[in-house]
Parts: sequence; structure tokens; C-alpha cells
Amino acid sequence: MPRKIAAGNWKMNGLRANLAELDALAKAHPAPAVDVLICPPATLIAACRELPFAIGGQDCHANASGAHTGDLSAAMLADAGATAVLTGHSERRTDHGETDADVAAKSTAAHAAGLQAVICIGETLAEREGGTTLSVIDTQLAGSVPDGATAANTVIAYEPVWAIGTGKVPTTDQIAEVHAHIRARLSERFADGADFSILYGGSVKGSNAAEIFAVDHVNGALVGGASLKAADFSPIVAALETA
Ligand code: PEP
Repeated sequence: MPRKIAAGNWKMNGLRANLAELDALAKAHPAPAVDVLICPPATLIAACRELPFAIGGQDCHANASGAHTGDLSAAMLADAGATAVLTGHSERRTDHGETDADVAAKSTAAHAAGLQAVICIGETLAEREGGTTLSVIDTQLAGSVPDGATAANTVIAYEPVWAIGTGKVPTTDQIAEVHAHIRARLSERFADGADFSILYGGSVKGSNAAEIFAVDHVNGALVGGASLKAADFSPIVAALETA
């Protein structure tokens, strides 16, 4: 069975003072019935170790070490207390030109360091409007998910680029179509494809979480803006717990 995961991506937000939000979230969910994964900026990972949540990085380098100023290896994230890392977030693909091959290499590096890779894929608005969403998803799955992926070491996050941070959300039919497609592709390629968690990401809020979690093959969410405040993220965790 896929695990249910409520994941928060803080992006480039968060100073030590903001850890109070995670303390408040921990008070509201001291023993969550679903996996809660918080991906703060790397500077805060070590400070999150005592929380009752899994902690993740937002990116890692494909190499284990070396002359890569400013980058972090997967082993460094693990050493700081992370058990997971996002790879291929659309902001990394856009801001840093990351290709599917880069994402696959980073995901393999994550696995080698014992981290779960949360591999992000999703179409742009032009691709959605051009009717190529499913073929874009196929290309990204084939290129970004390495052969060593298993349901234990990999999570797929479907995040339509046009829904991230925009307040626009696909219809539940659109989400259902893509998630069923991802499930089918994973099942064709991997013996345990039925067990991978597939998260939806893009403008998830407390007010829309329950209807999104009711969609087949939606096993949780990757949440940006609404993960920054305990008051916003807690209802999403609660909705997943009762989904
Ligand atoms: C994200 O950063 O992955 C994301 C989905 O952001 P938001 O929830 O703000 O749309």
C-alpha cells in the first residue's frame, strides 16, 4: 500500500524564529497518523531533528563530494538529520536549468545516501493547453526516475507548474487522469509500482485538501505556501489523516 504523506516545502523561506511554527504543528500533531515530511531550508534541518516529523532537503548535488561551491551532497543532508530530499522541483528545473538526467542523477545520489527521493514532475500551462500533458509526464518519468527507484526509496510528486503558487488548481478529473497515468507507468516499469506514493502539489490549502485527497491514486500532497504556518498546514495534515 502507498504511504500517505503530507509534505511541506518551505522553499527559500524560514529563519530560526520560524521554527515556532513547527513547534505549534508538533503540538497539534504529536503523533501524526500519516507521514509528515517538512523540507525547510537546509540551514534549519539540524534544528528540526527533535520534531515528530520526517525532515527533508530541497535539493542535493549528484556527486557525493568535491569542488562544488555552495552545493550540498545527499550525505550532508542525511548527516544533518534529513531522511528525504526533493529532486526536480520545477523551480530548480527553471531557475537552474535542471534536466531530467540531472534529476535522475540527484535521485540516485539521494538513494546512495539512504535518503528517500521525492521526484517532482509536471507540465507547464503551454503544455497543458497544447494537449501534451501525458506525454510530458511520460518523458519526465522515464528520464527523472532512476532504475534503482523502489516504493521505499522514491515518492513521485505531480505538480503542474501552472498550479504552483498561483492559487489555480486542476479539476479533480484532471488530477485523477494524471495520477492514474503515473500509477500505470510505475506499475509497468517497477515490480512494486503499485506501492509508490504519488503526491499532488500545486496550491493545496485546507479548503481544497479533502477533495483532492479523495481522488484515486492521490496519496498525499506536496505543499508550498500553506506549509509555512501551522494554522494553514495542520488542516491539510488532518484532512489526509481522515482521507
Ligand atoms: C511547491 O512548492 O511544491 C508547491 C506546490 O507550492 P504551492 O503549494 O505554494 O503551490
